[in-house]
Order: sequence, then C-alpha cells, then structure tokens
Amino acid sequence: MPEKTMIHSAWQTALTQLDSVSKLMMLPEDIHQILRSFDRILTVSVPVRMDDGFLRVFTGFRVQHNASRGPYKGGVRYHSELTLDDLKALAMEMTWKCSLAGVPFGGAKGGIVCNPKTFSKNELERLTRRYTYAIMPIIGIEKDIPAPDVNTNEQIMAWIMDMYSVKNGYCTPGIVTGKPVNVGGSLGRTDATGLGIVFTITNAMKQKKMNLKGIKVVIQGYGNVGSAVGKFLSEMGCKTIAVSSSRGGIYNPKGLSHDALIKYYTKNGSFEHFPHAESVTNASLLELPCDVLVPAAMENQITKENADKIKAKIIVEGANGPTTIEADQILSGRKIPVIPDILANAGGVIVSYFEWVQDAQCYFWCENEVNARLKNLMNRSYEEVYALSREKKLNMRTAAMMIAVKKVADAISVRGIYP
Ligand code: NAD
Repeated sequence: MPEKTMIHSAWQTALTQLDSVSKLMMLPEDIHQILRSFDRILTVSVPVRMDDGFLRVFTGFRVQHNASRGPYKGGVRYHSELTLDDLKALAMEMTWKCSLAGVPFGGAKGGIVCNPKTFSKNELERLTRRYTYAIMPIIGIEKDIPAPDVNTNEQIMAWIMDMYSVKNGYCTPGIVTGKPVNVGGSLGRTDATGLGIVFTITNAMKQKKMNLKGIKVVIQGYGNVGSAVGKFLSEMGCKTIAVSSSRGGIYNPKGLSHDALIKYYTKNGSFEHFPHAESVTNASLLELPCDVLVPAAMENQITKENADKIKAKIIVEGANGPTTIEADQILSGRKIPVIPDILANAGGVIVSYFEWVQDAQCYFWCENEVNARLKNLMNRSYEEVYALSREKKLNMRTAAMMIAVKKVADAISVRGIYP
C-alpha cells in the first residue's frame, strides 16, 4: 500500500477538488468560503473499561460539514489510523454525494481511533455506547443520522439506536441507518452500495459499447462494498479475477467463485493460500490487466506512483477517495475513465435515505421496490453527470462535482446568511 506521507492527505485532495471546481464554475467567493469550512467539529474522549479490568481512553470525533440541504448524514468509522483530516474529507464528500444523488441530506462523518479487531464483543458494545453518549448532543433524527462505515456494521448501529432510545425514553429507529431489519432497517441496505456500483458499471459499459457479460473485474478490498459488487457481477455473468483484503490478494485470470471466496474468508480471515490462485500484493493487484478496476478498500490507493501502470479500461470508485489528484490527471491523459466515488458509491446513502423515510412513515417497502428506486436514482445521476461531461468536455469527476456543488451553493444562496 502507498505510504500516507508520500501523498496528499485525503483532506488536501478534497479541498483542491472543491477549489478547482469553484473556480471553473465562477462560484461567488463568499459561498466558496462557506463550503471550505465546517459547521461543527466535535472531539470526544471515550473511556472504556476493558475485559481485563483496565480502563482505556479512546478519541472519537463527529464532523458536520454542511446542512444547507437537510440534516447531516454520514458513517462512523473505527480505525487505528483514523485522523480528523480524513474525517473532514469524508464529511465534505458526503455533502457532495447527497447533493448529487438528490437526497435531502448534508455531509457528516465520525469515528473512533481504535483497532476494533482486538476488541471482544462486550468491549465493542461499551465503546459504541460511550461514543454515542458523547456525541448525543449533536445527533438526532432531524439533526445528524450516523450509518456504518469501515469496521462498523448493523450490530453497532443497533447499539447506537438503543443507546439513543434509552436516553430519550422511547424507541427512535430513525436515529441511524444501516441497522438490522427487525429494528427498522431497510431491506436491501446491506448490499446497496455494491448494487449501486454494479448499476454504475452497467451504465459505463453501455457508454463504452462493451458487453457486460464476461468482463474481467479486479476488486481491491472484498469487504461490505467489494464483496457485494463481486456477488452481483457474478450473478450477471462477469468474471472477478482478483480480490484482496488488508492482508493481501489473490489472482486467477480464469475467474474466482464469489461463494468460495466468502466461505474461505469467513473460515480463515484472509485470502492467503486460497486454492488455484496466485498471491498478489494490494499494490500489484491494482496493476493487473482487466476491464474494470473497483478500488473498494481505503483512500489514496491509486497515486502518481502507480497510475501509469494501471491496465484497466475503466475505474469505478467503490471506496471513498481512492484516487489522488495527480493520479486522476495521469489517468485522464491516458484516457482511462474514472467514475468518481460521489457518483459510483452513492447507493449506500440513497438506501439510507429510503430507510430514514420508511422509519418516519413506520411503513416498510419490499426489497424489489427498494432496489428499483435505487436503480432509478443511480441511473438519473449517471445520465446527468455523463451529459454534463460530454457537453463541457470534462472528466466525470469534475462534472459530478460541478452538479453537486451547484445544488449546495444554490441552497445556501436562497436560504441566505443569518443574521
Ligand atoms: P469493510 O471494512 O467492510 O471492507 C474494507 C475491505 O478493505 C476489507 O476487505 C479490508 O480487509 C480491506 N482493507 C482494509 N484496509 C486495507 C488496505 N490498507 N489495503 C487493502 N485492503 C484493505 O469496509 P466497506 O464498508 O466495504 O468500505 C470500503 C470503502 O467503501 C471505504 O472507503 C468506505 O468509506 C467506502 N464506502 C462504504 C459504504 C458502505 O455502505 N459500506 C458506502 C460508501 C462508501
């Protein structure tokens, strides 16, 4: 994996992207300054009594970027290398993602600096409940609605929801999305990001006049997002030829079976020694020949160091911020289209929005209805971005950012500034 120190931080990348589209759009400077800043950043301490009786104090954050279009929305990440700058970038990106998808939310992100893999289930529950308690003053059904992200899942969302409900004295399912279906979660939410990416791949293939069936796909990070992409693509007759986890990857040009991958990973916790496949590092996996490359792990994976070695015909960003600015330029020059994160991986937040709406109505939709509505919004955004990119001769990222930033800027303008 590329070293963090060699490249711009995700935050620098996010700011540079905003600055350059603002210039291109001739955005008024006062609006630009508002968009560059944050509504609120909360740092909290999270003391946890560990199973061995010792107390450890962790640091947690909740970053709220902009709520001009609706309540803040964004995931909660547990990671040992989490920084406030990462969260600022991710929160800002959520503002653009919600805006582009046309869902009435603003951007937020939160998390705790910790390695949850070393925690017992009870420790994880105590950590989650204490973090929820600490951020409670600034979250709420109509204020800020957390969701899962890296290393958090529906169980963690259930604990957040329970903590908030206990504190309020009544059941409040709408406080989080991505929770289990039996406590107000939405059908289709678990796989929504992956399914949305597959709709995006389908659109991109159509536009390239390529047949979807039989395409070769490389997926970096076979977690929530990556494995859902692999599952749906295999159902559609595509071939996943390489996958990875943080402990490295595997490659077989003839294709890897999704079911066998999941079975093996569940048993072994990694893909090491997976039968009939060659071992590859996460870095070399990105350079394999394929039709579609889906980086679905972490930010800053495609950099100026490896962008000229990428052999994919198209890159569809499953992760948030996997491509650096320098890499974007190199790929643009090499005519390798990059379908940006704010467009490609919006499926999760779109179905989170559906979950929030269903919770508010206390009326739940069947999975087909959720997926059909998701497809509709994903296709609408894709067409909008593609049309602008053609009209103005821009790459897809710039076109997507221009549409997203404009909607937020318009909301700020029409609401005005208090006082
Ligand atoms: P996850 O934790 O379920 O999966 C991440 C995968 O990446 C795992 O296979 C992990 O082993 C691997 N990984 C972790 N660190 C790595 C590294 N340094 N190098 C290579 N692989 C590594 O997380 P996820 O929910 O699938 O999220 C993946 C990405 O997608 C993140 O960038 C996240 O912000 C983004 N995303 C997630 C959702 C969602 O709904 N879960 C929605 C939008 C965007």
